[in-house]
Amino acid sequence: MMYDIIIVGAGPAGLSAAIYGVRSGKSVLVLEKSTYGGQIINTPEVENYPGIQKISGYEFATNLYNQAVNLGAEVVYEEVTAIEEQGELKKVVTKDHVYECHSVILATGARNRRLGLDREEELTGAGVSYCATCDGMFFRGKDVAVAGGGNTALEDALFLSNYCKTVYLIHRREEFRGEKKILDALREKENVVFILNANVIRLNGEDRLSSVTVKDKNTGEEKDIPVSGIFVAIGQEPVNQPFEDLVKMDDHGYIISGEECGTSMEGVFTAGDCRTKQVRQLTTAASDGAVAALQACNYISGV
Ligand code: NAP
Repeated sequence: MMYDIIIVGAGPAGLSAAIYGVRSGKSVLVLEKSTYGGQIINTPEVENYPGIQKISGYEFATNLYNQAVNLGAEVVYEEVTAIEEQGELKKVVTKDHVYECHSVILATGARNRRLGLDREEELTGAGVSYCATCDGMFFRGKDVAVAGGGNTALEDALFLSNYCKTVYLIHRREEFRGEKKILDALREKENVVFILNANVIRLNGEDRLSSVTVKDKNTGEEKDIPVSGIFVAIGQEPVNQPFEDLVKMDDHGYIISGEECGTSMEGVFTAGDCRTKQVRQLTTAASDGAVAALQACNYISGV
């Protein structure tokens, strides 16, 4: 199966690239390992995408997906395990198929960072969650914790405060990285307790989480907080291991790239959160998608 452009990842960057690719008259295949939309589907409200006053992340992603597909992009749900060079062409390998193309765009996004604690994996789905909008409803009327100090943690805490009895917001510093507007709204909430300058050091419970142990960074004091859930919102990390031998990456696993969205390999471009950049936002992902697709078109045309 031969395409002009194969895009790995159907998040905002990949789908934006697909739109620009098909509108330039290229055949475009998007390969996605889970669901379309990437991380934005977990954001209840997007208020900072230019030209759209307010929209849910899920609706935004669905609109983007429909736009790409209606314009002619093909989306297939398969995980890419390797990409190899084959003369002028690239071979994109999944578990079930091998696809060929002239140009590849890596738009793999990033996944939620883990706390790195013992039993974190075992208790995932049994009290440990990385998505408040997906799992928050299971904790209605209960005490929960949110770990993190960025916009995701603040939004999660705000969302959960509407359903849960108490929300403990645990952050390792005094200052928050997230926006003041959300922080101010949280401070108004009577059922939100701020635990600052503290790290979660243990997850406790038999079959399910029953408490977390936090350690104060200044005093070294440890205390158990009884909660039935913890929502981990401590940022993202890239998942680019299948492409380690293909393109150069930085020490954190982000694909090294600049404003032109090129990589260390000719004909392979990159877009969105998976690449080195200062600002990882919906707008910058969409913008990367456009740049990467147009660069891929130029590459194919030999410009
Ligand atoms: P983030 O901004 O990178 O924040 C991660 C937070 O987790 C930071 O407060 C960080 O602490 C903390 N952290 C990181 N590693 C940790 C660890 N090992 N243990 C404990 N705490 C740890 O991540 P994010 O909140 O997921 O946001 C990602 C990007 O998406 C940001 O650019 C954000 O603005 C954007 N976003 C925007 C919206 C919106 O505009 N509506 C919503 C969600 C996300 P330090 O502060 O001490 O480093």
